[in-house]
Amino acid sequence: MIDFIIVGRGLAASVIAHTLHNTNSSFKIIGDADLSSCSKVAAGIWNPIVFKRLTKSWLADELIEHLNVFYTACEKRLGKKLITQRSIIRSFYEEQEKKLWSAKANIDLKGFLDPIIYSNNSLELENCKIAEQFGLVQQSGNLNVAEFLNATTNFFKEQLVDETFDHAQLKINADHVSYKGINAKNIIFCEGYLVKNNPFFNWIPLKPAKGETLVISAPDLKIKDHILNKNGFIMDQPDGNYKVGATYEWTDLTEEKSQKGRAELEEKLAQLINCNYTILDQQAGVRPSSSDRRPIIGLHPEYNNLFIFNGLGTKGVMLAPYFAKKFVNFYLQKETLPPEVNVGRFYSLYAGEKK
Ligand SMILES: Cc1cc2nc3c(=O)[nH]c(=O)nc-3n(C[C@H](O)[C@H](O)[C@H](O)COP(=O)(O)OP(=O)(O)OC[C@H]3O[C@@H](n4cnc5c(N)ncnc54)[C@H](O)[C@@H]3O)c2cc1C
Repeated sequence: MIDFIIVGRGLAASVIAHTLHNTNSSFKIIGDADLSSCSKVAAGIWNPIVFKRLTKSWLADELIEHLNVFYTACEKRLGKKLITQRSIIRSFYEEQEKKLWSAKANIDLKGFLDPIIYSNNSLELENCKIAEQFGLVQQSGNLNVAEFLNATTNFFKEQLVDETFDHAQLKINADHVSYKGINAKNIIFCEGYLVKNNPFFNWIPLKPAKGETLVISAPDLKIKDHILNKNGFIMDQPDGNYKVGATYEWTDLTEEKSQKGRAELEEKLAQLINCNYTILDQQAGVRPSSSDRRPIIGLHPEYNNLFIFNGLGTKGVMLAPYFAKKFVNFYLQKETLPPEVNVGRFYSLYAGEKK
């Protein structure tokens, strides 16, 4: 009997698979990569700063330290370059913004904000629309998520069952679960926003947010290994093209590319660059955001061998490695899960549904 069945083929399932592998746990991954595009279209950016209030993002110190160790180990295991350290360029349009930046760079955001105020005379920034002075966020970067998923699928091909999981076929026993002849001590669901189709966990309160991005070619841009941020972002891709993002939409929760999304992204682009470009691709996915914007992890209220790892929202790249480790420690060493992420905070919704 194996330790786990992992359901899903996105970022959550992939990070859980590597984390279980690190502890020599045995598993099968059952997933159909084409049901949700969310992880496949993600820009994969991690950013320790919330620009709106110029504050540190939740648990930034711990999450960033952990993600660097985790993805670097995956690079070695998979033999691929997956992460790129990139500073985020943030323009100053008002004197006040600059003052606040300088103050915070030397105290509470030390290490995350470069204290130097830069002047816009770099050749790399030719054809970028930025203010005369700007600051740089440090310890930010991006994961090539699509490459990570492909390489992970390849690495775990012996463990992979490439199909749609049919929840009706899951048999739950006291000490194990069975699915089409696979016996496992436990099952963990990493289905992203499609958890809405999971009869065991469809009560968790997700507030999914559709997002769209563009891939453009812009031969006159020279920006490289930076992320230009202003009400959106533009970032170079390994093939020399650029990714532009991203939109947020809470009513149309399809994975269809929309005219509205394209127009919004072109508006963002007009604020970021001032050279010609060609749109090569438009992509859409639905983020599994939760109602309180925290991951949703842990044990089913009724069955002691059903688990969930979801709610990664807009920040899956930063959150997944740290909380996958927390999950494995919880399962193997009986450590308690942080209450902010424990699915237990929503158990009353399950009880409510059963009444
Ligand atoms: C446009 C856009 C840009 C983004 N940019 C960033 C970014 O820059 N940085 C960042 O950190 N995050 C970003 N995100 C968010 C990030 O993509 C998510 O946090 C993360 O990918 C969620 O991963 P997941 O595995 O939980 O969900 P998903 O990616 O949705 O994965 C779920 C997987 O389960 C499979 N599945 C579901 N149901 C079944 C079933 N019944 N049987 C078999 N398989 C099933 C799906 O096909 C899919 O493979 C972005 C998202 C979007 C849409």
